[in-house]
Amino acid sequence: MSVKEKNIKDVISQLHQMKKGQGAQTMRKQLIFLGPPACGKGTQTNRLAEYLNLPHVDTGSLLRAEIQGQTPNGIVAKSFIDKGQLVPVELVASIIKDRLSQEDCQNGYILDGFPRSLEQAEALEEMNAEINGTDGSDFRAIYFDLDQEVLISRIVNRRSCSACGEIYNIKFHPTKVEGICDKCGGKLTQRKDDNEETAKARFETYFRETAPLIDFYKNKGVLKTINANGSIDEVWERILEVIK
Ligand code: AMP
Repeated sequence: MSVKEKNIKDVISQLHQMKKGQGAQTMRKQLIFLGPPACGKGTQTNRLAEYLNLPHVDTGSLLRAEIQGQTPNGIVAKSFIDKGQLVPVELVASIIKDRLSQEDCQNGYILDGFPRSLEQAEALEEMNAEINGTDGSDFRAIYFDLDQEVLISRIVNRRSCSACGEIYNIKFHPTKVEGICDKCGGKLTQRKDDNEETAKARFETYFRETAPLIDFYKNKGVLKTINANGSIDEVWERILEVIK
């Protein structure tokens, strides 16, 4: 082979390598999060969305926005949320599909609070295939595993910023000034369904409807389990390990 031919071959091979690299960079990260109420998903997914520069699609917040706007969906959703039950699948799936179809989700998303049942998991597979196809997708289900005793106390002490959504815990992760968000100065509020009675119903719903998803995703080989006991920073480090 002449020197000229060798140079051409090298250039072509380098171009192939570059193309491969670009492919890897544009892999669409589709990360979903599973875990019982108040397991810390919201705090970590907020942070992860900023870190990966991906949209944070938080199902509970989308539903609460519908309630606040007194939309027909919001009026239906409220009656289920107040009882700690799942909102009907058609309603929640249509809200999620609209959100995942938006342009900012084209390169991936952090999906928090959906799916919460096998029926919803199947709906998610269908919408992913419909919206973007499955090529180039890096789909992972991240499961937050933690001791149950801490959960109720986390729920009743949880507060969030009414302006930016940042989540605090008045015992374990308080704000510097009581009632005021450290990040944006907004006013802290407590979610209406964060009381002991509704929390109990939410746990029952979780174990009945959502926990079966752990095996569902394990069988598909996409489940990553995180030990979610410990400080926010400790859990964060473990998340960084599994999203690489
Ligand atoms: P969260 O903010 O994720 O704790 O959700 C609060 C409440 O919104 C839940 O207790 C349910 O009533 C409702 N909800 C959130 N996500 C879903 C979902 N994927 N399917 C049905 N209902 C949901």
